[in-house]
Amino acid sequence: MCLTCGCGDEENVRVSTMDGPPHEHSSAHRHDHGHDNGPGHGHGHGHGHEQAADGHESARTEKLVLGEQILAKNDRLAEHNRGWLEQRRITAVNLMSSPGSGKTSLLERTIAELQSDREICVVEGDQETLFDAQRIKDAGARAVQVNTGAGCHLDAPMVQQAIEALAPSEGSLLFIENVGNLVCPALFDVGEQAKVVVISVTEGDDKPLKYPHMFSAADLVVINKTDLLPHVDFDLTKLAKQARSLNPDLEIIALSVRSGENLDLWYAWLHAL
Ligand code: MG
Repeated sequence: MCLTCGCGDEENVRVSTMDGPPHEHSSAHRHDHGHDNGPGHGHGHGHGHEQAADGHESARTEKLVLGEQILAKNDRLAEHNRGWLEQRRITAVNLMSSPGSGKTSLLERTIAELQSDREICVVEGDQETLFDAQRIKDAGARAVQVNTGAGCHLDAPMVQQAIEALAPSEGSLLFIENVGNLVCPALFDVGEQAKVVVISVTEGDDKPLKYPHMFSAADLVVINKTDLLPHVDFDLTKLAKQARSLNPDLEIIALSVRSGENLDLWYAWLHAL
């Protein structure tokens, strides 16, 4: 599955806090932390019972087994994250999109307008740089940056580490800004309460059928940059029809972070979680 694009490589994952002196801790050998998981399971090494050298078919089988083990381990940790967050009445929202759709801009504006009601914290996921965590910090909220190296998504172990570093307060709103792509993030539960896909009108209205897993997994689609609609060929009705053919219960909000159009609908959706 996701192993084919190299994102099974955990060696270069880094979690960086943005408060106080910067420190990083490697998650090259991430563990289940023992407190709620079975011992000696889920480390994803394949255990060598079939050697790839035996031929292409056995290598393929081993890869599939490895993929299943990784997803099973991820799902266990995602449930652990979800339980931890629910106990503390922390609402966690996983934002997913292509690069450049406006996830970080949406968060900057949301922080500016909602933070007086409730603490907002952000887990930022990008392959490299601290750019987005710095933007969130500048907007006035606490953030932890996860750099995934070769990885193309956040997974539950990464989010667990990030939450431990961030320590969001009870009753807060936690955004998890996933790595920008419309494929792999859809496959990994991180323990969030809701998944949001952000798509901008400059990306084209044919994305739901091209990336069905993402739109099937989502609770809400935010269509951003509606202020640019006069300048692009983007059919809101077509996108909504495609998306709801995959996911009939999907909610859709078309808004503009830049102009502020319909941001009240986004805030109302968050309040209702
Ligand atoms: Mg971003």
